[in-house]
Amino acid sequence: MTNKHTSVLISGASIAGPALAYWLARSGATVTVVEKAPALRTGGQAIDFKGETHMELLRRMGILEEIQRRQTGGTDQTVIDSYGKRITV
Ligand SMILES: Cc1cc2nc3c(=O)[nH]c(=O)nc-3n(C[C@H](O)[C@H](O)[C@H](O)COP(=O)(O)OP(=O)(O)OC[C@H]3O[C@@H](n4cnc5c(N)ncnc54)[C@H](O)[C@@H]3O)c2cc1C
Repeated sequence: MTNKHTSVLISGASIAGPALAYWLARSGATVTVVEKAPALRTGGQAIDFKGETHMELLRRMGILEEIQRRQTGGTDQTVIDSYGKRITV
C-alpha cells in the first residue's frame, strides 16, 4: 500500500497514535501527531507483550531487540483463594 499524497492528522500521542503514525508514514503518508498534554508524564506502568502477533509486530517495527534489552523481567501474577485455588489467570 502506498499513500504518497495522503496527509493524516492523528490526535493523541500515547500508544496508538505514534504506532499508527509509524505505519502510515512507512507507507508514504505525511503524518502529523498532536497531543493535548503539555509534557510527558513522569510515571508509568509496565507493558505486557505476549504472543507471536505482538512479537512479529515489534520485529517489523524494528524495536523488538531494544524492548527485550530493556525488559523489567516481571512474570505473570495469579490470584488464588484461601484454599490455593486459582481464581484469575
Ligand atoms: C488505570 C489503568 C491501568 C492500566 N494498566 C495497564 C497496564 O498495566 N498495561 C497495559 O498494557 N495497559 C494498561 N492500561 C490500558 C492502557 O493504558 C490503554 O490500553 C492504552 O493507554 C490505550 O492507548 P491509546 O493510545 O489508544 O489511548 P490513550 O493512552 O488514552 O491516549 C490518548 C492520548 O490522546 C490525548 N488526547 C486526548 N484528547 C486529545 C485531543 N483532543 N487533542 C490531542 N490529544 C488528545 C491524551 O492526552 C492521550 O495522550 C491501563 C489503563 C488504565 C485506565
